[in-house]
Amino acid sequence: FKRIPLSGQSKDELEVMGESFNRMIGRLERNHDQQQQFLSDASHELKTPITVIESYSSLLKRWGMKDAAIQEEAVEAIHHEAIRMKQLTEHLLQAASQSGPSADMEEEIELISFCEQMAQTFRRTGKRDIKLQSEDKEIYAMTIPHKLEQVLVILLDNAMKYSDADIQVVIKRQMDEIFISVKDRGPGISPEHLPHVFERFYRVDSSRARKTGGNGLGLSIARSLVESFDGKLGIQSKVGEGTVVTIILSHQILI
Ligand code: ADP
Repeated sequence: FKRIPLSGQSKDELEVMGESFNRMIGRLERNHDQQQQFLSDASHELKTPITVIESYSSLLKRWGMKDAAIQEEAVEAIHHEAIRMKQLTEHLLQAASQSGPSADMEEEIELISFCEQMAQTFRRTGKRDIKLQSEDKEIYAMTIPHKLEQVLVILLDNAMKYSDADIQVVIKRQMDEIFISVKDRGPGISPEHLPHVFERFYRVDSSRARKTGGNGLGLSIARSLVESFDGKLGIQSKVGEGTVVTIILSHQILI
């Protein structure tokens, strides 16, 4: 960090300094506004499950002791909202940890076995099969493994949430880039919503997302995680056909 003496500058130099100072202030203001927005969105998102839990627990307190139907409905709703809140707070913590500098080191990993291990963990939940596909036997890449794992969890979770059919993970190498695509045959996302799905708290259909447990944070977290190891995250989707979310890694090591 170089200190600039604040005297002896020419008029032009002072103007340049003034401009960069204004840019810096602008950036700080934007950061501050984004943080304020994030805080108010997050509080808003937490308010809904808390309200549901509060009203169902009151219902339970008043009439639940005598009425088995109310007991069942209330316990179900409270349980569902508690799970949503747990996921939301986990996502908020992940999002907050993305905003600071990262001390994680990139390392070389073999992607096909890495994805296969993740697919196996998901298969064990017994909900759905995940089919892995690659023309290569091994693909090596530089990445931050635990962050890549978080990204894949988000993408596989979404694919399971929004579709009933089996999920495909395609890993391929092209020129000096590596593509890991998570494909589902769910309802797809219409073109007017597609450009916004990486925005924090954006949900295409909030009533459906409430049922599936979504909070609109997954893809925005996934994108900043991928960017932290210099990758990119893209999405393609067709209504009625399905969605493909692709991680693009550029630091490939050829062996
Ligand atoms: P959420 O927690 O709501 O799933 P995301 O940021 O992961 O949040 O996704 C934002 C929105 O994009 C979702 O609410 C959903 O409407 C849509 N979306 C994401 N992934 C898919 C998918 N695989 N199929 C259909 N819609 C999806």
